[in-house]
Amino acid sequence: MASSLPFSESPGENASSASCGKEKILIAGSGPAGLAARIGAREMGMEAVILERLPFSSRKLLASGGGKCNFSNMLSPEEFMEKFGRKGAFMRNALALTFREWVTHFLKTRGVETVLTDNFYCFPASGGSSAVLEAFSRSFPPVETSCEVTEILTESGRVIGVLLKDGRRLKSSQLILAAGGCAWAGLGTSAGLLLAERCGHTLIKPLPAVAPLNVREDWVKTLSGVSLDHAELLLCGKGKRPLWRTQGNLLFTHEGLSGFAALDMADAAGRMCLESGSATVFLRLFPGKTKEELAALPEKYRRNFGRRSLRTLLAEQEGLPRSLAGALSVLAGCEDTLACRLSGASAEKLVSLLRDGIPLVVDSVGPMEKAMAMSGGISLKEIDPATMESRIVKGLYFAGEIMDLAGPCGGYNIQWAISSGRLAGRSAAASAVGSAPSRKQKKGK
Ligand SMILES: Cc1cc2nc3c(=O)[nH]c(=O)nc-3n(C[C@H](O)[C@H](O)[C@H](O)COP(=O)(O)OP(=O)(O)OC[C@H]3O[C@@H](n4cnc5c(N)ncnc54)[C@H](O)[C@@H]3O)c2cc1C
Repeated sequence: MASSLPFSESPGENASSASCGKEKILIAGSGPAGLAARIGAREMGMEAVILERLPFSSRKLLASGGGKCNFSNMLSPEEFMEKFGRKGAFMRNALALTFREWVTHFLKTRGVETVLTDNFYCFPASGGSSAVLEAFSRSFPPVETSCEVTEILTESGRVIGVLLKDGRRLKSSQLILAAGGCAWAGLGTSAGLLLAERCGHTLIKPLPAVAPLNVREDWVKTLSGVSLDHAELLLCGKGKRPLWRTQGNLLFTHEGLSGFAALDMADAAGRMCLESGSATVFLRLFPGKTKEELAALPEKYRRNFGRRSLRTLLAEQEGLPRSLAGALSVLAGCEDTLACRLSGASAEKLVSLLRDGIPLVVDSVGPMEKAMAMSGGISLKEIDPATMESRIVKGLYFAGEIMDLAGPCGGYNIQWAISSGRLAGRSAAASAVGSAPSRKQKKGK
C-alpha cells in the first residue's frame, strides 16, 4: 500500500482515539463517481483521499464506450431520469447540481473539447477516456491503489474510519462509498455492496443490466453474427401489455441477442425473469413501417412478384439479411412458397409477425461478467437524495453504480456517477466543516 496516506495508523490501533491532523474525506473507489466526489469535496474546501482496491485507477472509466467514453447525452434532466424507470426521480437533486453542461464545461476548462455523435451522444473530441480521466485527476495527488476497504468502522451509528485489507485503519468521520457494482469480468466487484450491507443497508439483488439476452429459440442462435441497423424490442406483461420498449441496432449471437436494443432491454427482462422464470419479448423488424404498410406486403408481393419466393422478396425488397428472411418465412409457414401461392393463413401469420413482432422467450440475461452495468444495489430508500448520505449511518455517503439505479446504453451511467459523486463530495465536505450545504451550494453556484 502507498505510504503517503497522511493519517494512516498501525494495525490494531483504535481509529477513534488516534490523532491524525487535518481530517480528510475518504472515498472508496476511483471510478467516475469517486473522482467527481473528490472534486465536489475540494469545491467546498475539503481534501479527499481516493482508495482503490485494484493496482490501477479508474479501469471501468477507461474501458467505457470502447475507450472513447460516452459520458453523457442530450436529453433533458426529466427525460434522462425517465430512462432509469420509476426510481429515476431519486436523481433530481444530483442532476440539478451537475448535469451535461457542468461536465462539458469542466472538461473544456481542462482543455478537453467534446463532440456529439448522432447529434445525441457526448464524447471527448480526442483522447477518449484517458483525456476524461486526466481532466478529473489534474491537480490532485495520485489515487491510493491496491488499497481495499474491508470494513467501515462506526461508533454510535456514525462513521469513524475504515479498515484496509492490510490491517491499517484510516480515521475520518466522512466516507463516500463509490465502489461501483459487480458488472464486467475483472473490473466489477460486490465488495462495496457487502460493506454497506454489513452496516445495516438493504441490498436489492444485483442483476446484469446493459447485457445480452439469452433467448430460448434455437433459430435465433443459428443466425449468430447477423445484425440489423434498426429493430425494436417490446417486453410485454400479462395480456400482451407493453411494459418496456427499446430500439436500436441488434446483433444475433450464439446465446440470443445483443446490440443496443437488446442491451437496453436487459434490466427490465432480467427483473421479469427473476419474478416469473422467463420473459417474452417481441422483435419488430421494421419499426419504421406503419401497420398499414406491413399489412399490405403479401398483396403487393402477389401482385408484383408472384413468381418469387417469400424469402427472396423479404431479402431483396425489404433489405432483411437472407438468413433472417429465411427464418421469418419458416415462422410464417411459407419457407419456399412463391408469392402467388401464399395461403391466406401464411399471409396473415406473416403480417402478424411483422406488425406485432416475433415472440421470443428470454430465459436469462447476462452473465454479469458480460454486463456493462449492474441493476440492483443499495436500496434508495436508505439514502437521502438531497445529500447522498446514508439514512442509517451518519457520515456515510453513496455515489454511482453502487446504488439501486441503472440506465441504458448511451452515457447515462457515467453521467449519473459524476452527478451523484459531486453531490456526495460536496455534502460530505459541508458536513465535515460543520454546515449543511446551503441551497446555493446545492445548486453549484
Ligand atoms: C466495457 C464497459 C463499457 C462501458 N461504457 C460506458 C459508456 O460508454 N457510457 C456510460 O455511461 N457507461 C458505460 N459503462 C458503465 C460505466 O462505466 C459505469 O456505470 C461507471 O464506471 C460506474 O462508475 P462508478 O464510479 O460508480 O463505479 P466504477 O467505475 O466501477 O468504480 C468503482 C471502483 O471502486 C473500486 N472498489 C470496489 N470496492 C472497493 C473497495 N472495497 N475498496 C476500494 N476500492 C473499491 C473498484 O475496483 C472500482 O475501480 C461501461 C461499462 C463497461 C464495463
